[in-house]
Amino acid sequence: MSEEKEKRLIIYNTLSRTKEPFEPLHPPFVGMYVCGPTVYSDVHLGNCRTFISFDMIYRYLLHLGYKVRYVRNITDAGHLEGDRDEGDDKFAKRAKLEQLEPMEIVQKYTLGFHEVMTLFNTLPPNIEPTATGHILEQIEMIKKIMAQGFAYEVDGSVYFDVEKYSREHDYGQLTNRKMEDLLEGTRELGGQDEKRGRLDFALWIKAKPETLMQWPSPWGWGFPGWHIECSAMSTKYLGATFDIHGGGMDLQATHHTNEIAQSEACNHTAPAKYWMHTNMLTVNGVRMSKTAGNGFSAKELFSGNHPLLEKGYSPMTVRFFMAQSHYRSTLDFSNEALQAAEKGYKKLMESLSVLGKLSPGASSSVDIAELEEKCYAAMNDDFNSPVLIANLFEGVRIINSANDKKETLTAADLEALKKLMHTFIFEVLGLRDESKSMAGSDVIEGLMNLIIDIRKSAREKKEWSTSDKIRDELKAIGIEIKDTKEGVEWRI
Ligand code: AMP
Ligand code: ZN
Repeated sequence: MSEEKEKRLIIYNTLSRTKEPFEPLHPPFVGMYVCGPTVYSDVHLGNCRTFISFDMIYRYLLHLGYKVRYVRNITDAGHLEGDRDEGDDKFAKRAKLEQLEPMEIVQKYTLGFHEVMTLFNTLPPNIEPTATGHILEQIEMIKKIMAQGFAYEVDGSVYFDVEKYSREHDYGQLTNRKMEDLLEGTRELGGQDEKRGRLDFALWIKAKPETLMQWPSPWGWGFPGWHIECSAMSTKYLGATFDIHGGGMDLQATHHTNEIAQSEACNHTAPAKYWMHTNMLTVNGVRMSKTAGNGFSAKELFSGNHPLLEKGYSPMTVRFFMAQSHYRSTLDFSNEALQAAEKGYKKLMESLSVLGKLSPGASSSVDIAELEEKCYAAMNDDFNSPVLIANLFEGVRIINSANDKKETLTAADLEALKKLMHTFIFEVLGLRDESKSMAGSDVIEGLMNLIIDIRKSAREKKEWSTSDKIRDELKAIGIEIKDTKEGVEWRI
């Protein structure tokens, strides 16, 4: 990629509320931190939208030639149910419910998260640090914040002093809100409260005797608050100031606002140059979330096994559905939209097989260089994937017209069109051709024959639980098997 094209990338920065030319601090290196999942349950499709959006952003930065260090954490401790340091510990609650150790919960849902991310064809981050693996770094950071006078201890817990901080800093800068407005939205402190100010938040929380995950600290046994993990880990792996910090929009007001305060108080510098926030996936206009109960897991989506789903949708249909909206717009889930995406994705893939078979003509009736320019212009305009897709469909139109002999392309233009379509569809949008990678592959064919054989012998031995397990678990990953007179049939 030429330097000229590289320079044209424009990013919307939540902090300045404007689109800014992307100028990394130390080009060609780019440091990007994205807040990862809280691994106490299956990720829902809303969470996936945020991670898939950042995967596309990561992919495009790589495509432009940047050397990106992409850090996405795993929150595996310290996340209470309420944003204001109240409620149960999410991990402890789940551990009790599933009768497992908290770290078994963490392992189970981390593996599940990775599996889903692989199915969606996302690239793994370069570093995936965990909160439990960085307790020392968090304690050190809290000590530094206290030494600067921006935190205080009360009976084994440590709180960030927002009022004191806001005398010298703009605490509400990320959401463009004044202290008075922020205070208005919070409840008065009662006699029971340890906090000095209504907006103060916990850096370290004193453990109760029954707390399952706790660590020793200068303030006694306890566990870190949720926000400090991201400040400690981003500083450790990307430095006090790095290029991009991202996450879902719901993190802006509390988690990211507090991250900025912690990093400023500790390092005397803003943690990130660009703040990027993805908008929410909604269901009938309501944000998909674990608490709202309107969230289905990726597996439910693939199998169609959920009351909201008319049928199952493949990972690439879903990825395509998401790419059809800009990451800063809300995206409303509906079966109709997914069915339309299924058709659109298929059309795109089919056009690629047609493209492979086209023969060159003596001249070109279309301008492929202009189409390429338009594709770059779309992505350079704050990663505008829906406009990119519209341009790719202009490519589909050209391919189909050339196949019907209504347009002609020289050999060089044919090559340019192939390169353009493959680059943007696979490398940048991160789609895969499912017809090739799944049903059509010899490996899958061989594996399915083996599984069907094992199921057959289980049935012959009347081991019904094994044969049912095979059928159900295949179904959960989107493979249906059917017993017919002719034998067993299967389809993805
Ligand atoms: P959590 O596991 O709740 O910490 O969330 C992981 C990521 O998913 C965060 O970046 C959230 O902002 C994001 N997220 C949560 N709900 C949604 C949603 N409905 N749509 C898009 N992103 C979401
Ligand atoms: Zn975070």
